[in-house]
Order: sequence, then structure tokens, then C-alpha cells
Amino acid sequence: MISIKNLSDHDLEAATLHQAKSEQSATLKLLEYLSELDARELYAKRGYSSLFVYVRDVLHYSESQASERINSMRLMRKVPEVKEALADKKLNLTNAAKIASFARQEKLSVKDTARVVAECAGKSTREVESLLLAQSSAPAGAKPETLKPVSVERSRLSVDLDQEMLQHIETIKKHSANPHLTIGDILKIALKNEAHRLEKRLTVKPPARETCVKNSTVPHKANESGSGEKKESANNGDSEPALTRDVSLLNAVAKPASPSKNHSSQKDLASDLPQCEPKKHRSRYIPKALKVAVRERAHHCCEYVDPESGKRCGAVKYLQLDHITPFAKGGTHTLDNLQILCARHNQLRVPQHLRPETRH
Ligand SMILES: [Zn+2]
Repeated sequence: MISIKNLSDHDLEAATLHQAKSEQSATLKLLEYLSELDARELYAKRGYSSLFVYVRDVLHYSESQASERINSMRLMRKVPEVKEALADKKLNLTNAAKIASFARQEKLSVKDTARVVAECAGKSTREVESLLLAQSSAPAGAKPETLKPVSVERSRLSVDLDQEMLQHIETIKKHSANPHLTIGDILKIALKNEAHRLEKRLTVKPPARETCVKNSTVPHKANESGSGEKKESANNGDSEPALTRDVSLLNAVAKPASPSKNHSSQKDLASDLPQCEPKKHRSRYIPKALKVAVRERAHHCCEYVDPESGKRCGAVKYLQLDHITPFAKGGTHTLDNLQILCARHNQLRVPQHLRPETRH
């Protein structure tokens, strides 16, 4: 085999062109496989909370590469002409991903998305950005908020400020005793005050919320599905305001040793927990102490386990409480019958016999 160093200029150029063509062809094929994998929800079955996480962690693409490939694949699925445009190099992955994001943000129809694809064909990324910006319904210059870690202890927040917020900042700076107050300082003080205010509200709570509600007659919103899958945040029968409930969950993470004022020892938490027996008038309300215990046992991450590989999802966002034996089929609000799943795995219809029996 001839070393690359020994190739003639002509052969080197031909070989490079050949490799580039092979790479583009392989990328197109990859998009087709990703589309089928997405349609089968195979990434979820394998224990990944999203296709993005799967492409990043299993296929080892960077986050931006994963995002470009997934967005391009979904655009290709929506508008089949995209495949040809990619093959003919009238569209690259970066531009296709930008069009896909734009179409999603603007809720474009298939017809309008196809029109935008045609308009963007053969254009540079800068030209595509200008074209999309000109057609955007979002306020000029508005950008999504971003939060990126810049060190172990610090992250950088990028957010647009409107005139009202700028005026508040100026007022605070003007009346502050500290002439060197930064926007970061002001944000920290504001966040601290708001967190303190919410924590104070939590201390004034009706006792009924903390106690067992055997055969409770309190009406609750109950839209749990027949399979026992539901969104804890919205449909758990707890009528606390969503924001207060979120903060209480934060408290649960921060103070795991005292999930309930009625239970002083965490050691006997499982046995002490209020267990609501199914009787004539079954309540869908799940006591807060029980919810906290389920979350703590799950270490605050998704408990879905791929039955084949044993890989646990472990997602920490969008967690929901799930009945292993569905409530509608007689499943109880007990520690053994509850688990924490991410939104993706709560939606995944897993056959009962494949449900994970052991938790890690
Ligand atoms: Zn999950």
C-alpha cells in the first residue's frame, strides 16, 4: 500500500475528493438510520432520555454535531427534498439544522418549510441566517437564554434584558451604597430574596398537606392514564401552586433527613410512611413524605433500566412519579409501587413484565 506521503499531487487530490464524497454519503445514510431509530424510540428503550443523549453518548458526537444531525434528520423526514439538497451539497448540515429550528420555532407547515428549504438552497450559512431572521416572528435581536459552565463553580448566563429590567438595574445601582455593584451582584441579591420569600411561604402550610390522607375526600385533579403514567408536577392531586411545589422539592433535595415533620427518623422512613390502602373511594393524592422518599431512594434521577443491557437512564430533568402497577388497575400509593421516571421514559409504554424489578 502506497503511503500518503508518496502519492502524486494528482492522486492525493483524487483520494481526498473520494474520501469527502464517502463521508457525505455516510452522513446521509446515518441520518436515515437515525430516523428509523427515532421512530422506534430505540434510544429510550436502551435507557437514554433523548435521541440527543444517545447520539452524544453512544455515537460519540459533540453536542453541536449531535444537534445538527438530529435537526437535519427531522427536517429530512418532514421535507423529503432535503435529502437531495444535502446530497447535491445545496444544503449542509449546519444550514439544515438552522432551518429545522426555525420551522419548529415558527410552527411552519410542511409546505412553508419546503419553501424555506428551497429559498436557502445554495446559500452560505450567513445568508441563511439573514433570510431566516427576515422571516422570523420573534422580536428583532431576541435570542434564547443560554447557561454555560465556565469553571467548576461558575456558569455564564446569556439573557436579553428589556428596557424595564435595565431601568431597575440603574435604579438599584443609583441607590446602592456599593458603587461597584455589578449586574451579577444585583441578580444574586434578587434571587436570594426571592428564594428566601418562597421558603418563608413554605413554613406556613396547612397541616393536612403533611399527613396521610387515607380515603381522603379532598377533590383532586386526576388525569392519570390507564397505564398509571402521569405527570407528577401537574396531576398529582396536590393543589399547591406549581412554584411552591418546585421549591419544596428543592428543599427535599437539600434536607433529605427531614422529609416530614411527622416522621423524625429517616431510618424507618419506609415503614413510617403513610400508605394509602385502596378502598371504596380511592384517592389519587400521594402524600408528600412518600414522594420525597421515592425521590431519595431513586437518588433524584430516572429509574428506567434497559432490560437488555441493564443501563439505567439516570436523567435528572423532567422527572415524574410513576405507578409500577397502574393506579387504574389497583396499584397503590406505596413505596414499592412507585418509581421516578424522566418524561421520556414515563411516556414509553413498557410491557409490565419488562418493568425493572431491581433498582440501583
Ligand atoms: Zn429516563
